[in-house]
Amino acid sequence: MTQAVRHDSMRARNLEVVLGEVGRSGPVTRAALAESTGLTKSTVSKLVGDLIDAGILTESGVIRGGERGRPGVEVVLSGHRVAALGLEVNVDYLAVCLLDLAKKERFRVRVDRDNRGTQPSEVLGELRVLALNALSEAEVMGLTVAGAVLAISGPVEDGVLHNAPNLGWRGVRAAEALDLPLRVDMDNEANLAALGELWFGTGEPDFLYVSGEIGIGAGLVVGGSLFRGVHGSAGELGHVVVSPSGPPCRCGGHGCLEGYAGQEALLRAAAPPGSVVSGMSDLLHRLEAGDRHALAACADAGRALGIALTSAVNLLDLDRIVLGGIFAPLFGWIAGPAAEAMESRLGGLRRSVPSLVGSGLGGDAATLGAAGQVVHRVIADPGPYVARARAAAEAARV
Ligand SMILES: [Zn+2]
Repeated sequence: MTQAVRHDSMRARNLEVVLGEVGRSGPVTRAALAESTGLTKSTVSKLVGDLIDAGILTESGVIRGGERGRPGVEVVLSGHRVAALGLEVNVDYLAVCLLDLAKKERFRVRVDRDNRGTQPSEVLGELRVLALNALSEAEVMGLTVAGAVLAISGPVEDGVLHNAPNLGWRGVRAAEALDLPLRVDMDNEANLAALGELWFGTGEPDFLYVSGEIGIGAGLVVGGSLFRGVHGSAGELGHVVVSPSGPPCRCGGHGCLEGYAGQEALLRAAAPPGSVVSGMSDLLHRLEAGDRHALAACADAGRALGIALTSAVNLLDLDRIVLGGIFAPLFGWIAGPAAEAMESRLGGLRRSVPSLVGSGLGGDAATLGAAGQVVHRVIADPGPYVARARAAAEAARV
């Protein structure tokens, strides 16, 4: 290794260390950064200067008393130049959100659309238009979009959506098919929603996030990291068996949770004989009006959810379960029966039964987690942005 290469790789490492520290601690002075990273003050000042030039850090304007009475200006992640795109194909909507590096949402659009049994090209073509529109919005705001992550309902491995029975899609390279002018990765919707909850929700480091949609997925967060399983398919809670003699499921099994507490099953069960419940807002309306069919359907769904979660708790020793997706607005009607079902099965085994909490992010969790992943990638590796800013500054000097 030549000395120049060694110097470059050390600089890159130090950039990561300084930026990682700002990302973790929030607003911080250069002097405090020197103390926490063990780097000299002049090295920190140089690195912070480079990160400010690259538009990744900015001075907050807040002045703190520094060492030996010398005041220091706090630096924070900058929301002015770099941004990230979160995309989502759900069974009944498409969504796009734009997040800046300070993790502030700058733009969001959601289009209701029935994606069941559709051609991937048709749906992805529509999402592409929404994504390109978001990129134009970013440009108007002076933001450079560092990348995108696509959230999709189904197991994803090596860039391939293997089987999304609720969409009717199999073996689709959906991120690639979007053909956007930037890097697009893809991950399971429940996984990304769990990360959204971790980064934008309550901030607890250990929990199971349950995403109620037409299908039911879950994302397990342990020690602040997502547990994906060997093939990235961990958390298929919707196919945990509630009753082996129950109705047949799309997966080939019988009596899966999805058949009791998934959105379609729930709407079907909530309808009085000879009529239909048209959607979630109709269901919520009926619940608020005290409709007995709607109340009974939610109580049954809650009990089934509690039985499935009992298996998860026995297997994983969880302390906290966050209910998201449709379970967030339905929380008041399903959480009680779910908690009772868990209590009666777990109470004799465990000192405490895990608490159920409703997600405050609702249907936005997956796109926030998706865009948040890109933000975390930039913070973990700011080198290319610093190099680009330096090249641009040199070109301007010539
Ligand atoms: Zn199933």
